[in-house]
Amino acid sequence: MKFGGTSVEDPAAINRTASIVAGRVAAGKSPVVVVSALAKVTDQLLRAAAAAAQGDRTGALAISSRLRARHRDTSCALIKTPADASALCNLIEQKFDSLDEILRGLAAILELTPRISDLVVSYGERLSSRIIAAAFAERGMNAAHVDAREIIITDSQFQKAAPIDALIDKRASEHLRPLLDAGRVPVMGGFIASNEAGITTTLGRGGSDFTGALVAGALSAEAIEIWTDVDGIMTSDPRVCPDALRVRAISFEEAAELAYFGAKVLHPATILPAVRKSIPVLVLNSKNPSNEGTRITSVAPPCKSPFKSIAVKKKLSIIDVVASRMLMTHGYLKAIFDIFDKYQCPVDMVSTSEVSVSLTVDSNEKLPLIAADLSKLADVNYEGKKALICLVGEDIRGQSGMAAQVFGAIRHINVRMISQGASEINMSFMIEEDDADEAVRSLHAAFFKDADPSVFDTEARKAAVSSSAG
Ligand code: ASP
Ligand code: MG
Repeated sequence: MKFGGTSVEDPAAINRTASIVAGRVAAGKSPVVVVSALAKVTDQLLRAAAAAAQGDRTGALAISSRLRARHRDTSCALIKTPADASALCNLIEQKFDSLDEILRGLAAILELTPRISDLVVSYGERLSSRIIAAAFAERGMNAAHVDAREIIITDSQFQKAAPIDALIDKRASEHLRPLLDAGRVPVMGGFIASNEAGITTTLGRGGSDFTGALVAGALSAEAIEIWTDVDGIMTSDPRVCPDALRVRAISFEEAAELAYFGAKVLHPATILPAVRKSIPVLVLNSKNPSNEGTRITSVAPPCKSPFKSIAVKKKLSIIDVVASRMLMTHGYLKAIFDIFDKYQCPVDMVSTSEVSVSLTVDSNEKLPLIAADLSKLADVNYEGKKALICLVGEDIRGQSGMAAQVFGAIRHINVRMISQGASEINMSFMIEEDDADEAVRSLHAAFFKDADPSVFDTEARKAAVSSSAG
């Protein structure tokens, strides 16, 4: 069971989380609990580190002192048993003393390396997991705090370390399995890890889901529950499309496509350790725990609607490379991609003709440099403020007339680039960012008007319609 930042943001949220876990234990399950830092703490720690490294010692220490107060207050509100409360508070003070020590060091040396950034940011999960384990114990659960850095072993790519599966399997069976066998509930931080030498690393922003999946994979868990603050995966962003529906069931492949296209519910890499072992992933809402959420499984149930969801990725740029010289030559694409490689710039979508190549990338500050290099090969144009719309669904495989329906629904919008992935489960196209919301609403109206009730929660829509009518 993985709980994100908003599921542990304050004492009320931690209490809700505790009763959700206690409910699973009462139902005879043996959960391992993975928690994020309290909401927003990761951002604030990174800001403190950056401030310190720029010489703003006072600013950095002020952030740390606000975080100290927040963690202290949260603990006091949760832990009433005097001995436990003072033990936890001492621990929190100690951790913040050592954090302040690091921040002062950064302000003296004026340099923030990825390794030290990981060390600073690790305090978020190191603290949250302690507080939550204590809160569970206070509520009568047989909780055991586990330092995630003893279990999740990675390489040394700080800030985005890659897990070493064999070592994680070994550590999980040595440290987690015996706790579960003894009827205890292990509680550990997500996101943080260590390399083989024991130096703290992290799995990258949003990495707690990944931790959850790694632990589930190592223990061959029955399921991974990702507890967040939405009812699961939706047919589109409800802020853009108020009649978006909850998707009851979706395949791993579909969920991975959506994740890559920016649907914020899941970390894309979460999918991998789960897929390998066919462990179902459930996305659930800790603010609405009775909702059944979205179930992600290796094979999607049959669905009468062609698409499961519409995702949007904004702030993209399109780069057009046009060269008649590339006619009938080979090695041209390689030359183009070598330039993106040189600047470590990932490419989202590519479309080529005999004489031109169009690529899309996240808008970034290296773009002018990339364009300058490309212009040595060909004529180059690039433009920002683009959005990628991605329709995902396994049931478009082999269906004819799909493109006509999609582009018919947005016939009034100018489409700049189109791609249908080899996976044949997504159709993506690029438009102006300003047209994105309208395009999503038009597509949603066209494809989810008569959504299949076995796959989409159409009950909620009926309830909303009748309550607004009433
Ligand atoms: N706390 C980390 C972050 O905010 C990891 C996570 O919550 O998944 O990125
Ligand atoms: Mg998250």
